[in-house]
Amino acid sequence: MEAIGQFTGGVAHDFNNLLQVIVGNLDTVNRNPPQEMGRLRRATAQTMTGAQRAAALTQRLLAFARRQPLDPKPVDANALIRGMSEMLHRTLGEIYEIEIVLAGGLWKTEADPNELESALLNLAINARDAMPSGGKLTIETFNAHLDEAYAALHAEVLAGQYTDISVSDTGSGMDGETLTRAFEPFFTTKAQGRGTGLGLSQVYGFVKQSKGHVKLYSEVGEGTTVKIYLPRLLSEASIEDAPEVLPVPEAA
Ligand code: ADP
Repeated sequence: MEAIGQFTGGVAHDFNNLLQVIVGNLDTVNRNPPQEMGRLRRATAQTMTGAQRAAALTQRLLAFARRQPLDPKPVDANALIRGMSEMLHRTLGEIYEIEIVLAGGLWKTEADPNELESALLNLAINARDAMPSGGKLTIETFNAHLDEAYAALHAEVLAGQYTDISVSDTGSGMDGETLTRAFEPFFTTKAQGRGTGLGLSQVYGFVKQSKGHVKLYSEVGEGTTVKIYLPRLLSEASIEDAPEVLPVPEAA
């Protein structure tokens, strides 16, 4: 309860800061409309960024406080990632290289597609934050067989066939404490207003609810890989497509 109290106070504070930016900019523009187009653009861009951050914050809170159950459906993870490609390029920006490598004949899985998209976006944003001066984000899909030996080593993992979505970056990596605490709700190493500590806990909660498994690999100074394993949906045939490396969208 104490952690939740602290967190609520922190979020209210962050949200208020973002509103100050938005209100401040609108007020300036209202009072003395800038003569120059450049200044007006900068003010609206700042307003937009503030509003987007505030929206992302409330999205995370809503996801965390979710009262609705997930809505699992058969999912072709390759198609879902293809659909996110342009948005990922726009969200990360020019200093990042994004490589998307999709396995051919990927097994279908069953998961809530909106939550899966949200989980991948959380991972991409974490990757970006770990590479402040640029770097490479790689998203790959695989068919993975987790065998009995692997299951014996990992509590709560059932041996079997999984769709593996792997998100890697060439960023700062995590130290030992961060690695052990990363999935804890409200754990963040980011500055006030930058992190809520809810990204990886959303990923963890969603994957566990989907009867999957999530694994972190990280090396300080080298980068991080997050692997999501979602159970293969045996009632649905895999899509018989060839492996594919997605091109960078024109508009990015
Ligand atoms: P937030 O991003 O709001 O801090 P998360 O739950 O997503 O919350 O992440 C918790 C912490 O785990 C981060 O503050 C950061 O220290 C660490 N972390 C997560 N992803 C990465 C990554 N790709 N590289 C390095 N550190 C990471």
